[in-house]
Amino acid sequence: MGLPPGGKPTLGELCAHVGALRRREVHIVTLTLPSAGPHGLWVATETRDYVFAEERLVPVHQQQVILHEIGHVVCDHDTSPVLSADASRLLMPSLDPALVRRVMGREHGDSEAEREAELVGSLIGGLIGTWNVQPTWSVPPEAREIAERLSSLEAPMPRDRA
Ligand SMILES: [Zn+2]
Repeated sequence: MGLPPGGKPTLGELCAHVGALRRREVHIVTLTLPSAGPHGLWVATETRDYVFAEERLVPVHQQQVILHEIGHVVCDHDTSPVLSADASRLLMPSLDPALVRRVMGREHGDSEAEREAELVGSLIGGLIGTWNVQPTWSVPPEAREIAERLSSLEAPMPRDRA
């Protein structure tokens, strides 16, 4: 990946580096995600990559989740055909919980891409500094609406009926 030798980059510096390599900005956004889904989500827009991560995780777990998603970005896994079609529906105000589970549940799949992302994420994790201080990630205006809609999914998500 051509990370500069020596000092351990922070997650923020890692994103800047990956963004420079891909010529697409990479943004991390922590937010409240629906409980039924995974803890992390990579959303690729026309010009940028967003890594959304559950904000209620303990920092070490949250970093792991973010690194896994960055692993997908670095490997350039192709999520867009499914995501772009479904995500636009996912992000609509009125939601079908089954759809949310289906779209977000893809992340739990045991595919080659998942294993690759996990491996790359943990390799990167060994290169970067540990998460000492909880950073506050600024949400770019473009992502604000997506972030708000994703967070709003948490409330209407029905609990499993007995
Ligand atoms: Zn994954």
